[in-house]
Amino acid sequence: MQSNLDTLWFSQASLSAWLTCPLKFKYRYIDGLYWPMAAGSEAGQHIEQGRKFHLLAQYYFGSGNTQAPDDEPLLRQWLQRLAEFLPLTGARQFLPEYELRSVRDGIRLLAKFDLLACDERAITVYDWKTDAKPPAPALAGAVQTRVYLYLLSQAGHFARRPEDLQMVYWNPRFPDQPLAVGYSREKQQADWAWLRELIAQIRSASAFPATSDEMNCRHCEYRPVCHGQSLEEAAPNGLDWEEVNWDEIEEIALQGVNMP
Ligand code: SF4
Repeated sequence: MQSNLDTLWFSQASLSAWLTCPLKFKYRYIDGLYWPMAAGSEAGQHIEQGRKFHLLAQYYFGSGNTQAPDDEPLLRQWLQRLAEFLPLTGARQFLPEYELRSVRDGIRLLAKFDLLACDERAITVYDWKTDAKPPAPALAGAVQTRVYLYLLSQAGHFARRPEDLQMVYWNPRFPDQPLAVGYSREKQQADWAWLRELIAQIRSASAFPATSDEMNCRHCEYRPVCHGQSLEEAAPNGLDWEEVNWDEIEEIALQGVNMP
């Protein structure tokens, strides 16, 4: 069963899936079972809104366009805020939707950054969040941060010291509350040791048990399979969709579940 794990490009989404629930990892990355959100559901609407914002941001950094559809006032506001947060001054090179891959000791890593901003000295990875709360400080130690910064530090063609890399989470709902996370040689070494151990653990797994914490199932797309219950039935009022995020959907789509 593990043979395809030798050729899997590990991403923040796949590692997060494993850490959340090994069964979820198996469904997605071994069985290739992708269970889309219902289009009209609250989660589906959230994903669609995030998808549109990511596309508008990509267009802005590619062409300078700050126009959003007239019938999307929220997206218009978000795009305007983005243009104020990161004006296209020419002082930095902007690379939207930048894909990076790295192979080291047989470990394949993959990421697609929302945006890279480079100057001669430093590089910043930007990641857009559209949750109903500002980026939390806990994101500094999140799988996404560790994978993204480690992978960037391995990109020989960028040739920057780890200390010259950082990641910034930014949410257009809270434009004045970005979260910046720096990097260092020590973090780089710790992240590589952690990634090696985690991926070795996944590759040698003989079982992929379901999580024992049913809280992890609340936003999981496989809930209908595991619990015979739809997301709509499971969703309480006022929940936040932090775990149902566009980045994850994007990475799954990018990877095609298990791209050789
Ligand atoms: S619904 Fe729960 S048990 Fe099933 S795959 Fe998702 S997280 Fe795992």
